[in-house]
Amino acid sequence: MNRRSFAQSVGSAAILSAIPRSSGSRLDLGAAKPGKVMAITAHPGDGMFTMGAVLAKQIERGGAGVLLSLSLGERGAPKNIPVAEYGAMQRRATEKATHLLGAESIFFDYRDAEIPFDEEISLKVCDAIREQQPDIVLTHWSGSWHKDHQNCHLIVRDAIFYAALETLARSRPAHVVSKVFYPENWEDAANFIPDTYLDIEAVCETWLQACDLYPMWRGQTGFFRYNDYYSSLAVMRGCLSGFRRAVTLMSDTNQRTQHLQSL
Ligand SMILES: [Zn+2]
Repeated sequence: MNRRSFAQSVGSAAILSAIPRSSGSRLDLGAAKPGKVMAITAHPGDGMFTMGAVLAKQIERGGAGVLLSLSLGERGAPKNIPVAEYGAMQRRATEKATHLLGAESIFFDYRDAEIPFDEEISLKVCDAIREQQPDIVLTHWSGSWHKDHQNCHLIVRDAIFYAALETLARSRPAHVVSKVFYPENWEDAANFIPDTYLDIEAVCETWLQACDLYPMWRGQTGFFRYNDYYSSLAVMRGCLSGFRRAVTLMSDTNQRTQHLQSL
């Protein structure tokens, strides 16, 4: 089975890779000239675990990537590490991890587990989007049990709208984000239906090294086996897409609409 027919067998899923378009009907990540991907996460750890490979892939192709964390995820501290100290560890790990990928990192100082959903934070994220000018934004899917993740989804939705609104005067001019994707996250699994598979094999080892900078990844802060889960998931998603290792994304509803003159 060649990759084109394999892709078709996956159903409506799009397969993203760096392979030239002439190889079949597969989509590429962005346009011919790779743009910037901005990942916006409630907590830097699961942001890196679920969005870092996409950032790495875009950078490997000649584009750019930035990770914005709304909090430091400090309340995931294990009992033997004070919360503030753990927050500083999370920040250092994220700075090192994004540097390893060739990406930038930005931190807001909202308290973990208390990220609000209001106009102030939505406008703050709007300003960050206008400053960074990403072509693609990644953020949490709404179907999460975690209130910070749910709020992050709503904040980013409004921030993208505000960022594009030319009549909304801010310190920087309006910016239109072309595409929005929601990555696969074990905490955001309710009604998550991936429609896009991205080949990450070329950057997978670097991304895994970046994840390994977090104590959480190594199982030192809680019960969940992040390392086993996300490294195995990449293999499993690769099996389903004809790649060696892959991550999946869910497209925002609005960008699934096709405008065709014929089928
Ligand atoms: Zn989280």
